[in-house]
Amino acid sequence: MTDKTAIVTGGASGIGAGIVERLRADGFNVAILDLNPSETDDLAYRADVTNVEEIASAVTSIRNKLGPITVLVNGAGMEKYRRFRNLSFEEWERIIDINLHGVFHGVQAVLPDMLEAGWGRIVNISSSSTHSGQPFMAAYVAAKSAVNGLTKSLALELGPHGITVNAVPPGFIDTPMLRRSEEKGLLGGTIDEHVERTPVRRVGKPADIAAAVAFLVSEDAGYITGQILGVNGGRNT
Ligand code: NAP
Repeated sequence: MTDKTAIVTGGASGIGAGIVERLRADGFNVAILDLNPSETDDLAYRADVTNVEEIASAVTSIRNKLGPITVLVNGAGMEKYRRFRNLSFEEWERIIDINLHGVFHGVQAVLPDMLEAGWGRIVNISSSSTHSGQPFMAAYVAAKSAVNGLTKSLALELGPHGITVNAVPPGFIDTPMLRRSEEKGLLGGTIDEHVERTPVRRVGKPADIAAAVAFLVSEDAGYITGQILGVNGGRNT
């Protein structure tokens, strides 16, 4: 058990919600930052990760309630399917803003607590699409690839301060995001058809990602930093 305080952005749905559940079971005090958080969860705060003031205000409230934040999981994200020639710069900017700048703002907001504590764990949820690229998802893949690069650079910079920084790129996890894409016919087949091409022969679950995150934020993972730990059922190797 631990009394450490964690923040999970995007913790109201899908993978983020699975991470919140797991970290709470592991004994962390876990607060959620999300666009539409549950009204019944006392530790859920509304904040858009692209909005510096909203993040700062939520982080201050969380710190006052739960103490210094030494674990951050950047899970908030949004995808966009659009042929590149039809992608407007405004759409490109919005996807970069949520998926990349959201990570920048999240880390900036909690880093003083981690530096003060001389201990911290940051896990960035990127995407398996970064392994090989993905047609019609240029902005999203560019942003998530940048998150992987940011992860490696921060690991080198923050390692001497006792802070590890790793990324988990999920592949094909059964969440509202994946179901929405299936409904719109954007997956190039149904989820069941994809399962037949997935080496472990099942779709991933938020708990699969949560298990990897739980390890990376644990004391046991203190010698692991700057790593990109794919959790994708063998779809990407
Ligand atoms: P999800 O069910 O849609 O959850 C994403 C959460 O992030 C939602 O609660 C969403 O709020 C929130 N969010 C979006 N934009 C935000 C913003 N600007 N500020 C704060 N919160 C915001 O999707 P998921 O599948 O669990 O995805 C979680 C993460 O995994 C994302 O970063 C995604 O890119 C990544 N990922 C998922 C898969 C997969 O197979 N599912 C694969 C690769 C990567 P709203 O619902 O209100 O918009």
